[in-house]
Amino acid sequence: MNAVLDSLDFDPDALRARYRAERDRRLRADGNDQYVEVAADFARYIDDPYVDPGFTRSPLTDSVDVVVVGGGFGGLIAAARLREAGVQDIRIIEKGGDFGGTWYWNRYPGAQCDIEAYIYLPLLEETNFVPKEKYSYAKEIREHAARIGEHYDLYSKACFQTEIREIRWLEDENRWLITTNRDDAMKARYVVMSSGPLNRPKLPGLPGIAEFKGHSFHTSRWDYAYTGGSSEGGLTNLADKRVAIIGTGATAIQCVPHLGQHAKHLYVFQRTPSSVDLRGNRPTDPEWVKTLTPGWQKRRMRNFNTLVSGLPQDEDLVQDGWTDIIRNLGAGVAARLAAGDASALDPHELARQMELSDFRKMNQIRARVDETVTDAATAEALKPWYRQFCKRPTFNDDYLPTFNRPNVTLVDTLGRGVDRVTEKGLVFDGVEYEVDCIIFATGFEVGTAYTRRAGFEIVGKGGRKLSDHWRDGMRTLHGLSAAGFPNCFHLGITQNTLTPNFPHMLDEQATHVAHVVRETDLRQAQVVEVTAEGEAGWLQTIRDTALNNLAFRQDCTPGYYNGEGHAGEGKGLFDNLYGPGSDAFFALARKWRDEGELKGLELR
Ligand code: NDP
Repeated sequence: MNAVLDSLDFDPDALRARYRAERDRRLRADGNDQYVEVAADFARYIDDPYVDPGFTRSPLTDSVDVVVVGGGFGGLIAAARLREAGVQDIRIIEKGGDFGGTWYWNRYPGAQCDIEAYIYLPLLEETNFVPKEKYSYAKEIREHAARIGEHYDLYSKACFQTEIREIRWLEDENRWLITTNRDDAMKARYVVMSSGPLNRPKLPGLPGIAEFKGHSFHTSRWDYAYTGGSSEGGLTNLADKRVAIIGTGATAIQCVPHLGQHAKHLYVFQRTPSSVDLRGNRPTDPEWVKTLTPGWQKRRMRNFNTLVSGLPQDEDLVQDGWTDIIRNLGAGVAARLAAGDASALDPHELARQMELSDFRKMNQIRARVDETVTDAATAEALKPWYRQFCKRPTFNDDYLPTFNRPNVTLVDTLGRGVDRVTEKGLVFDGVEYEVDCIIFATGFEVGTAYTRRAGFEIVGKGGRKLSDHWRDGMRTLHGLSAAGFPNCFHLGITQNTLTPNFPHMLDEQATHVAHVVRETDLRQAQVVEVTAEGEAGWLQTIRDTALNNLAFRQDCTPGYYNGEGHAGEGKGLFDNLYGPGSDAFFALARKWRDEGELKGLELR
């Protein structure tokens, strides 16, 4: 082992100490409470800038087989898999003016998917589409959402620009009653909830935030009327504007290059730097497309998922920054095994190698900053000091060079954040930065109540509210349904699993829901409901496993992945998930379906 340490060109102890120090100076007692809800005085931050005002339609009082809540990829995949399972009468209800979900809202300049398009865009084989490039931009992704809507005939019944007020179970009818802001009172046999895990923008609770007299908006509601241009860039109205952007997460990394190119002056307020790896986009090779055989997309998705779950594979089909660490780790392990060193597979040894692989990766990321950014102090401030998956890794070739522009200033807040907002701009460390516009790239609510994020209440059997049922934390079977809420399914991160390729996870969940609905119909039942035992059993499984990698998350710098530095306290993204990971969860769900007993469910 000492031979291994001697051969390293870095000091792991020094890196560990630096990571810990950087985390410690960012830890804060208020955690999630540092943010303010986008409501009341701040409600305008969630107005839809992409639709013409004044849309009206007649209220609906009809009855359908399934209402799907949310027209993003989750809702679209659910509708597609239900259609394939024989369900015809499907209505998607969507707050926005079209399908697309997160890609409907997030059209900021430069918006692009960090996951390879061939595995991220759902239903490619079904819709006979191949993306133009390895990484799709927002426009192509939105167009694909519309393509799915057309292909599965989901437009004809869809309700856009419609916000649900309440979903209530009618016990004597075995139907859900869905009421909306359009005075609809429609009924449905089943409800599938897919309102998205990052759907509610959040603002930092900065003193004086309401006092700013200039222009301001959140990145998920980009104001092109103010900036000019489109998600492809060209923000020409900013030529005489001083702009501040708060936040340097995955969103800011993509829009900062466009702001830097067009603003008279851009101030980037940073609390924690992101890891910014190579993008390396390239056009789709038509010769490669000709080699694809049926089932290719699922195979590619599974290969990626297994790798990012930390399990080596014989080949790495996607080969990008997401799979780099594991690819390196796998190569090291394979070399040691080939040399007859069986200890390479010992779990502790694997974890140690994983950490070393991570140190190497992050050293590369930090070296890239030095190679790109000419001012030494700015370069130093842009270096991330934490393990790669502590925060969402990002991939971009234009972000770092933006800091070489004379009209761009990095305001590094040393882990503390902006001090306050004034009528004229932002203050940090006694300096007031006067600006015309503040852009909040401050992310989305995670860990707040599910019904608050969804924006309405679900009232189940006996008038019980879902917010009461989940007051002390979620309770479900497989994350998909809760006891007392029959014929209602949840897609997303509700006590199941998470993978970087979100639509893959949604497809596995949608397949599961479609299976349950089909079995309910085949067995000629009206109602399918999780039993109390089924729910309690899964809750115990989550409690037993969710803390599997708690130490890793506790060592991480704060962010929404670890409940803003409060990992294990129920508010972090991973606190309520199946610990063995997504590959294991998909296998568990598949086995449950294959057994055919619908264990934990009651059919009536
Ligand atoms: P994030 O939550 O990732 O980032 C919010 C940013 O705001 C962080 O840099 C945070 O700093 C900063 N911040 C918060 N409060 C303050 C403050 N008081 N002062 C200064 N800075 C502050 O939101 P994003 O919108 O960037 O990304 C959300 C998620 O959306 C991503 O993690 C990713 O999952 C997804 N996404 C995916 C993309 C894709 O390619 N598929 C592209 C874009 C986003 P700190 O880190 O210190 O908390």
